[in-house]
Amino acid sequence: MTHRLWFRLSIAFAVIILVAVGTIYFFVSQRIAIEMEYYKTISAQYRSDQIRSKLYLHYYDKGSWEDVQPVVAALSVSGTHIILVGANGTVIVDSKGELLVGTNYTDSSDSPLGLNLTLHKEFLGKVYISSDPAAEPYVAPFLRLSTSINRSLLLGGSLAIAIALILTFVLSRRMTSPIGVLAKAARRLGRGDLSQRVQLQGEGEVAALAQAFNSMAADLEHAEQLRRNMVADVAHELRTPLSNIQGYLEAIRDRVIKPDAATIRSLNEEAALLSRLVNELQELSLAEAGELKLVYQEEDIAKLVKQAVTPWQPQLAAKEISLSLDLPDNLSPVNIDWQRVNQVLHNLLENAVAYTHKGGTINVAAITQSDWVEVSVSDTGEGIPAEDLPHIFERFYRVDKSRARVTGGSGLGLTIAKRLVEAHGGTITVQSKLGKGSRFSFTLPIAK
Ligand code: ADP
Repeated sequence: MTHRLWFRLSIAFAVIILVAVGTIYFFVSQRIAIEMEYYKTISAQYRSDQIRSKLYLHYYDKGSWEDVQPVVAALSVSGTHIILVGANGTVIVDSKGELLVGTNYTDSSDSPLGLNLTLHKEFLGKVYISSDPAAEPYVAPFLRLSTSINRSLLLGGSLAIAIALILTFVLSRRMTSPIGVLAKAARRLGRGDLSQRVQLQGEGEVAALAQAFNSMAADLEHAEQLRRNMVADVAHELRTPLSNIQGYLEAIRDRVIKPDAATIRSLNEEAALLSRLVNELQELSLAEAGELKLVYQEEDIAKLVKQAVTPWQPQLAAKEISLSLDLPDNLSPVNIDWQRVNQVLHNLLENAVAYTHKGGTINVAAITQSDWVEVSVSDTGEGIPAEDLPHIFERFYRVDKSRARVTGGSGLGLTIAKRLVEAHGGTITVQSKLGKGSRFSFTLPIAK
């Protein structure tokens, strides 16, 4: 329990509250005590002044301390102890009657403070006053008030602490319970239940955390779905060439066909297709994981295009396809990985050659557009149906599966091209009209 967040929060709040209330109590009670002490001193001063002036008045009237006893008795209210000592040092009156009248008075350490009585430079004697300030009629109500303030402070403080502790406990439980919900969902997610989502309303940090969790769970679920699809797609794609090879080999074993040059060529083609598939899959998985190492350099895109079209000349000539290049002189240099962009162009040219009929044309163009150079490959080939266009960059997507098989396509070329262009920060798009032709274009960042 001591590790639970709500417990730690409660303890932290409790300490803060205790310190706050304790500090207030300490300073207020301290202040009251100081003020009370000051008031007692003032009051004692006033009392002794009052006693002395009454004694002076009496002496002034009588010319001696004769009959001073009732005066002293009247002044000794509220437990005030008064001892009057004459000029010769003998006791004249002791309000408590402890000392004998006429005996010599001797100061001792515990004697009350003695005050000289002097009238017109004549020394009349000394008066010793000790009073209990608490019993003084002026002081007592204030003492009562200060005690009651102290008691209220203590009581109020304790009550405030108790209420604050309960509130802290309730609030911290409320604040931390969504975290518990999230932790539970995260544990379930970790165990493989990717459908986990948390329903937390509001706009605070915890709600933001819940949203982040939900979107992470959704991404994981999506990625898992993609992985499953990928495995299914790969299995499906590998099955055809593998069963073809198996079929050939079984037929040779059963002597249905002869292992002649044509059979071996067919077997070789199927094996080549398998090998290409595996290579492209590896390439794609690296690109999708963002692990392709791109070596960026300032390059001349016109030079790259000219180099990329060269290997296609024999096929173009065989299909009587005419190739034109639109490469203006003022093309900005681009910041690219030569090999990867060459690969993109290779894939686009391969498709253009494959899907353009005899006697058609292919045009490769490049143009600078603000921070980008746009490269396009256009053909007058068979085109792509509008409903297939949105899927054309998806893995293994082919418009016509049987035809693609004939052309040796794996259905991965455009997917890889898209990933490579995106790795450069660019975009790839397609425009196509069925029966008229297609135009693939991609952007590359210009070198700064
Ligand atoms: P493939 O290896 O099969 O060519 P791609 O990913 O390169 O795979 O292309 C996917 C599909 O897009 C192709 O099977 C084809 O149907 C269509 N396609 C691509 N380029 C063209 C084009 N220039 N003209 C017509 N169809 C095309």
